[in-house]
Amino acid sequence: MKKEEMIRYFRTVLSDYSRRSFLRRLIGGTGGNLSLRVPDTDTVLITPTGVSLEEVTPECSVLVDLDGNIIESPLGFKGSKETGFHLSAYKIRADVMAVAHLHPPYSTAYAGAGASLPLATVSARLILKEVPCVPCYNPGSKELADCVTAALQKNLNLKALLMQDHGILALGPDMKAAYYTADLVEHTAQVAYFLKNIK
Ligand SMILES: [Zn+2]
Repeated sequence: MKKEEMIRYFRTVLSDYSRRSFLRRLIGGTGGNLSLRVPDTDTVLITPTGVSLEEVTPECSVLVDLDGNIIESPLGFKGSKETGFHLSAYKIRADVMAVAHLHPPYSTAYAGAGASLPLATVSARLILKEVPCVPCYNPGSKELADCVTAALQKNLNLKALLMQDHGILALGPDMKAAYYTADLVEHTAQVAYFLKNIK
């Protein structure tokens, strides 16, 4: 596939999973952002700032280099304000090809406790292994990006982490994998919550 065709294709992938994330209620309002690395390039497509994931179209997303410089933005949007930690994930981990930052209600509630997610199911323990929590900083801040970067550097096998009083980050070898990891984190948090109320 030619590079231009590849970028066009991945723009549709990003808008598809953006809408799915909204419809699955993995975020509320205009929160959350998704990105993917265009294979065999040092470029990343990221959802724009200020647009609900429900309404992200293929042309909305912004192509940036690994330093965050805009390379292509057909509708003139700026990339997500969380571009910093998305790019950190790609720089630290060659295996990461997609990143989902979402605000699913049960996982975000657990993130409020400031502790690792309780892995309530065998599947979660086998697949996720550990979902640590990084401290609370303002969305879009350098402090938050630095904190997420440090957590990713500390454990090079992380699939997901919680962000205190904020949301989650899920990583994957492609967008589909990152999306399903985010969904598994939320399902795990929901089961942990139910379990706590049954015991
Ligand atoms: Zn957020």
